[in-house]
Amino acid sequence: MSVHDDRFKRDDFPAHTPRVTPIRKIKATDQIVFSILATWIEGFWTHWVGSTTRPCMVNGDEPCEWCQKNAPKKWAGYLFGYDHQKGELAFLEMTTFGFEKLQKLFPDEKNLRGRKVTVQRERKSEKAPIYFVDSGYVHESLVQVKERSVLPTLKRIWKQWL
Ligand SMILES: [Zn+2]
Repeated sequence: MSVHDDRFKRDDFPAHTPRVTPIRKIKATDQIVFSILATWIEGFWTHWVGSTTRPCMVNGDEPCEWCQKNAPKKWAGYLFGYDHQKGELAFLEMTTFGFEKLQKLFPDEKNLRGRKVTVQRERKSEKAPIYFVDSGYVHESLVQVKERSVLPTLKRIWKQWL
């Protein structure tokens, strides 16, 4: 049934918007199981400029504009895998504290793919560092998933600064 009322903007066949793999941030009370499908973490530096986060961009040997201005700098790491809570592939975001915890859990590993971890905050606060508990190995249904890079997701988030 189609009732005509031209005050509404209709779009019965909306154009498909390609979706990038989302970034998963751990909330204060989250406790999620995460299957790691990346060999290693992908890390990036960003600057806080006013209320925006901008990528620290390398231009040959030239330090970036914000490095030159001594703008505060922050590292974030992204680990590709499967978020069992949301039931989707995602990039788990962590700070240097989270990264150190992950390294402590698997000190001899050069390849994290295939590991499964439970992730939560040390306290019920989004400012508290995240930590990991070894939860075994990924299910065989995930072993065929191809590794993805976080770059397409970050490029979309940072597009106005690129
Ligand atoms: Zn910089």
